[in-house]
Amino acid sequence: MGSEAALKPHLICVPYPAQGHISPMLQLAKLLHFRGFDITFVNTEFNHQRLVRSRGPDSVMGLDDFRFETIPDGLPTLDQDRTQDIPALSDSIAKNCHPPFLSLLKKLNSTPGAPPVTCIVSDAVMSFTLQAAEELGIPEYLFFTPSACGVMGYLHYAELIERGYIPLKDESCLTNGYLDTSIDWIPGMKDIRLRDLPSFIRTTDPNDIMINYDLQNVRNAPSAKAVILNTFQDLERDVLDAITSKFSLRLISIGPLHILSRQIPDGPSKSIGSNLWKEDTTCLDWLDQKEPRSVLYVNFGSIAVMTAEQMREFAWGLANSRQLFLWVIRPDLVNGESAILPDGFLEETRGRCMLARWCPQERVLAHRSIGGFLTHCGWNSTVESLCGGVPMICWPFFSEQFMNCRFACNEWGVGMEIGEDVKRDKVEMVVKEVMEGEKGKEMRKKAIEWKESAARAAVEGGSSYVNMENLIGEMLQYKG
Ligand code: UDP
Repeated sequence: MGSEAALKPHLICVPYPAQGHISPMLQLAKLLHFRGFDITFVNTEFNHQRLVRSRGPDSVMGLDDFRFETIPDGLPTLDQDRTQDIPALSDSIAKNCHPPFLSLLKKLNSTPGAPPVTCIVSDAVMSFTLQAAEELGIPEYLFFTPSACGVMGYLHYAELIERGYIPLKDESCLTNGYLDTSIDWIPGMKDIRLRDLPSFIRTTDPNDIMINYDLQNVRNAPSAKAVILNTFQDLERDVLDAITSKFSLRLISIGPLHILSRQIPDGPSKSIGSNLWKEDTTCLDWLDQKEPRSVLYVNFGSIAVMTAEQMREFAWGLANSRQLFLWVIRPDLVNGESAILPDGFLEETRGRCMLARWCPQERVLAHRSIGGFLTHCGWNSTVESLCGGVPMICWPFFSEQFMNCRFACNEWGVGMEIGEDVKRDKVEMVVKEVMEGEKGKEMRKKAIEWKESAARAAVEGGSSYVNMENLIGEMLQYKG
């Protein structure tokens, strides 16, 4: 490595090992690389293998100044197509990842000619990294990849326990209306119910793994230099202000990252990708042939799974809506079996439907032919939908997706809900309304306003752009 490279500040980026966390961390890493940082991006061994398989071995070779390293997640090796068990993964990370991460940092710091590590940007739910950073005297920033409203929910887990809302008394609380209890004491949030909070609260177990994992991560957060969020001020101003004043966390909003990333010129680092599944781009050709705003896009992200019954209801609801649709069906979307569409569905929807296993979603949502998005409300999907000016049909699956859904429908005016218990008639009705109805028109108008607002935040002088400049200035000061 040349002496010029050795002078560069060296950043370590550590995402949580799931698609919705890796993608925004990689966007941030590429932006910082473009701005002169040397980057080491740390994946788990399991995901490293998946990247090799989906994108080819070159995808993880990296560049001289943008390298990939791995640490084990501590779990036995699984079939690569199986949906990861998030509680088991989180538990294993908390118990096992600190020693290999510390060793990795020491190895990087003792590699002859390599630039010393100057700063760490870690996913906030990988907060074991803070301990290693402290041991070696390296400054660290935490990146919470969910929405600010979602983070606000996690920040309140301790208070929800103290006030006696959780754990739930018994299983009947899930169905007897208890989840509709109004929560009117969280600052910055209006009309919130227990059911809108990140769904790990839906447990009767006082030792629930995910509750404890989140409590631990939230407790660790104040030790970081600051907390980075992939949102923008105009979208979540009240919640951002409330987090700052109630939890004394220093927040830096730098979203939408995929819009800020547009300043990166074409080149070797731009093409580094993060998809854990092989991308099918033929759907873009199909979309090119369709009329503007005529296609409903259906995708439930990387983790959501559904029952065969729910799959059938969605399938017939979509078929009966008579709309054009692009449906991305991950191989593991249906619980316990490979996704099987109901008999007669393909015949019924021939010419109106395009199926894919994994698509370039950002490009799909920015395509002029897309008129609506049936989504599980993952934060990246929500932001990509807003930035495409696309109204949403919301079917949240877990975690803070319920909060994103509530905000999309009640605060931002861009979403309509299908209801947790999927029924084909409701799917048909909501799809028609969003694609053709008056409510759909209003939502599309709102979504386009948010698209413009997001663009303003990300251009020179905009709130996220300025925050990113300040963050870079701060990070450049650290010496190894
Ligand atoms: N994604 C994609 N192609 C697909 C499905 C998803 O590129 O077929 C990307 C999507 O653009 C988003 C991420 O995967 O950036 C999913 O993150 P999100 O937070 O929406 O949901 P999660 O998968 O974490 O539930």
